[in-house]
Amino acid sequence: MSKRDYYDVLGVAKGASAEEIKKAYRKLAIKYHPDKNPDDKSAEEKFKEAAEAYEVLSSPEKKQRYDQFGHAGVGGAAGGGGYGGGMNMEDIFSQFGDIFGGGGGSPFDSFFGGGGQSRGGRRVAKGSNLRIKVKLTLEEIANGAEKKIKVNKQVTCKTCDGSGAKDKGSVSTCSTCGGAGSVRRVTNTILGQMQTTATCPTCHGSGQQITAKCGTCHGDGTVRGEETITINIPAGVSEGMQLSMAGKGNAAPNGGVPGDLIILIEETPHETLKREGNNVVYDLHVSIPDAALGASVEVPTIDGKAKIKIEPGTQSGKLLRLKGKGIPEVNSYHRGDQIIHVNIWTPKALNSEERALLEKLRESPNFKPQPGKNDKSFFDKMKEYFE
Ligand SMILES: [Zn+2]
Ligand SMILES: [Zn+2]
Repeated sequence: MSKRDYYDVLGVAKGASAEEIKKAYRKLAIKYHPDKNPDDKSAEEKFKEAAEAYEVLSSPEKKQRYDQFGHAGVGGAAGGGGYGGGMNMEDIFSQFGDIFGGGGGSPFDSFFGGGGQSRGGRRVAKGSNLRIKVKLTLEEIANGAEKKIKVNKQVTCKTCDGSGAKDKGSVSTCSTCGGAGSVRRVTNTILGQMQTTATCPTCHGSGQQITAKCGTCHGDGTVRGEETITINIPAGVSEGMQLSMAGKGNAAPNGGVPGDLIILIEETPHETLKREGNNVVYDLHVSIPDAALGASVEVPTIDGKAKIKIEPGTQSGKLLRLKGKGIPEVNSYHRGDQIIHVNIWTPKALNSEERALLEKLRESPNFKPQPGKNDKSFFDKMKEYFE
């Protein structure tokens, strides 16, 4: 069997716009939807055929390859063994978020909405996500951190191993859905009358009913518990970033799939260093003699102290750079710098001797400000360092 031309499948012209392609597919998806055509093999084939055509023609890159090389260009020609080779029903339904504008209004919500997962046709309950905040110091952010965190959450009941039943004999097939886990319903939608599938209200999709409940969890399959979770935080994260660990959230009732653990990153401000993107900024204060005569001074960095040289005649506002002493980018070898902003410290109190010395210096020509054209403005310097 050779494949039909994708444009023919969707019934659109070769030059059709993305919007026309989407519209044509939407129409076919509704017409041949398995729920509207139960046990109709040819409708199912057409449904898959349309989904495959849309999958290619909706992607500018795949469409271009298809236009140029035909089915061979999108890896669909080999063998020609029927349609939907690479797409299963789940892939097709996941496309629908895009086609029907996701979430609300879609007549197919009940197929893939609600956060459940399909296991052998039955819907399996999913545990809720657990959100925690993790506070990190600048040093931990720079180096990455392993955090062991004790969380309070729903855990699988050990007595019944999550089934919620007293023992094996107290589990029977659900009488409402006959074990299918779902019930069919006819609903009126803007697209006409649709038969939709909904999770069985009696067994919540498990297909089973419990006649005698577990004494520990009272049939829920989960109990409140504590778990210590080791979280590996990569270097370079920043305030407000969210990491997610699949399956580390709350356990699901009746042996379902656990939710995810969502980790919200919070930065503890550093005492002396300020983060500016991947750079770290330090405000250094040097004395007037050090700035005029030159000096070697110690500055804090995220990996300990470092010595830097202050050149004789250093002006206030000068920016010095310690290359690679900043924060790494997440999942990259690139590392920011430490930028040192030099401030000249003006004494706030003077004794008579100091006053006399400075009165003398005030008259010296070298102490009169003489800005040259190489002295950049503060604005120019910031631009040079941060852009
Ligand atoms: Zn049921
Ligand atoms: Zn139990």
